[in-house]
Amino acid sequence: MQFIDLAAQYQHLKDKIDNRIQTVLNHGKYIMGPEVFELEDKLAEYVGVKHAVTCANGTDALTLCMMVLGIDKGDAVFCPTFTFFATAEAIAFANATPVFVDSDEQTFNICPVDLERQIKKVIDDGLLRPKAIIAVDLFGLPANYPELERLARKYNLKLIEDAAQGFGGSINGKKTGSFGDMATTSFFPAKPLGCYGDGGAVFTNDDEYAALLRSFRVHGKGNDKYDNVRIGMNSRLDTIQAAVLLEKLAEFPQELIKRNILADQYEQELSSKFITPKVPEGYVSSWAQYTVLTDNREQEMLNYKIHGVPTMIYYQTCMHQQTAFLNQNNKKVTFPVAQKLSASVFSLPMHPYL
Ligand SMILES: *Cc1c(COP(=O)(O)O)cnc(C)c1O
Repeated sequence: MQFIDLAAQYQHLKDKIDNRIQTVLNHGKYIMGPEVFELEDKLAEYVGVKHAVTCANGTDALTLCMMVLGIDKGDAVFCPTFTFFATAEAIAFANATPVFVDSDEQTFNICPVDLERQIKKVIDDGLLRPKAIIAVDLFGLPANYPELERLARKYNLKLIEDAAQGFGGSINGKKTGSFGDMATTSFFPAKPLGCYGDGGAVFTNDDEYAALLRSFRVHGKGNDKYDNVRIGMNSRLDTIQAAVLLEKLAEFPQELIKRNILADQYEQELSSKFITPKVPEGYVSSWAQYTVLTDNREQEMLNYKIHGVPTMIYYQTCMHQQTAFLNQNNKKVTFPVAQKLSASVFSLPMHPYL
């Protein structure tokens, strides 16, 4: 058994994907070919936003957002401590300070109560300028955007949704990728919508942000390709990856249904044995991971292993405990919920061909 069976998905879509790739090989427009723009239109339509701007990966997508917002040294950007490294890395890469926030015990997502506490603390300390929040749709479940949007307004902060794991999720029908000022996703192969290499995108309804994103991703280009009006980066989605994604996106709604059926089955089988994921009323998860809590993680994972079922731990180390972030500030702080989660979670196989 595979933890995520990408080969089974390829077999299911083989003819369509092979044809799409062959079309690219025939026209030869490997960078910014027509498939890239076709995909951006379809992504924007699926998510329900005005603009989808693709880029090289989900980490660059976050970095592009930092560039658009002009995040810089002395700025505080709030993010959960229980997440993948890239969320916090993009903040530090922009020379700003990631201010970590504890998790909600039920959803594993950023805790709005602790977020407000951390915002007030930064304001009181007066050392950093509070600028933005990056919320994460951890394991596929959308973060608490109604509450996060309220706090962003109250403290005049920009809100970014890191939907690298959340693509396909929704709150009362509003899709992930449409929350906050900008949202990002990743097309890393193991994500809910993955390509066959690295890929990413930024979503926004703001025309000005979209224009800046399109400039920053190609060396800060102006109207003319060789007139560079700002310092940017080289972060484009390959045309071949866009071709693969076009076929995978067409199949994605079906896959999402299967993921949710599997999650229901896991819930029925496992809720008496583990603390299983809770999906709040009105929320839909894309089930990037099916993650349970137990006090007996090592033994439980070993049991699965003996029966040929692979399991993984996402994430064993919180951001404030990562070597790269062990500065004076983070040595002293504790995040009780996130630390408990990192000590007791593990994830079971989850993919639409399980
Ligand atoms: C995967 C992931 C990223 C980074 O995406 P890449 O495409 O691998 O750069 C960022 N944030 C979260 C929460 C992720 O899971």
